[in-house]
Amino acid sequence: LGHELVLRPYELVRKGKAFIMRNITFADLKKGLEETFTPSAAAVILYKAGMACGRRSAERVVKHLKLRDETLLNAIVKLKVKEGWGSINFENLNLKKKLGNIIVKNSFEAEGYGKSDMPVCHFLRGYLAGVLSVALNTEINLIETACTAKGDPNCEFQIVE
Ligand SMILES: [Zn+2]
Repeated sequence: LGHELVLRPYELVRKGKAFIMRNITFADLKKGLEETFTPSAAAVILYKAGMACGRRSAERVVKHLKLRDETLLNAIVKLKVKEGWGSINFENLNLKKKLGNIIVKNSFEAEGYGKSDMPVCHFLRGYLAGVLSVALNTEINLIETACTAKGDPNCEFQIVE
C-alpha cells in the first residue's frame, strides 16, 4: 500500500489527495505572485514551497520504500516523470563532494511560463533542494544556472555552499 501511494499518481487523484493542474495555471499563479510582490519575492515563496514539497516527497520514499542515497533519487526521478514534472537527471551530481549539476528536461515550470530573461524554475529548484537535503541529511540550496525559458537546451541546477 505504501508503494502504491508513493509511486502511483492517479491513485492519489482518485483518493482525493492530489489534483491535476495545467502548466499554464501554475504559471498564472507564479505571475500573480510576481506582479503582486516582486519577482524576487515570488522566487523566495516558490522556492520555500518547493523545498517543503521535496522534503516531504523524499521522506515518504524513505519511509515507505526504505530507499536511500542514489536509489532514493532514482525513485524521485521515476515519480516525477509519471507526474509530468519533467525528466530529472542526477547522474552528473557527485553526492559525496556536492559537486556537479542536476539536469532537467521538459520542466513543467519553464514550459508553462513562456520566454524569460532569467531562469524561472523556482518551485522545481526548491523541490530538488528539499530532496537533496533529505538524501544528504543536511540543508542543501540550489541555483538554476540554465533554463529552457531563456532559450537554454535544458534547465540546470547547481549546489551552492
Ligand atoms: Zn528552468
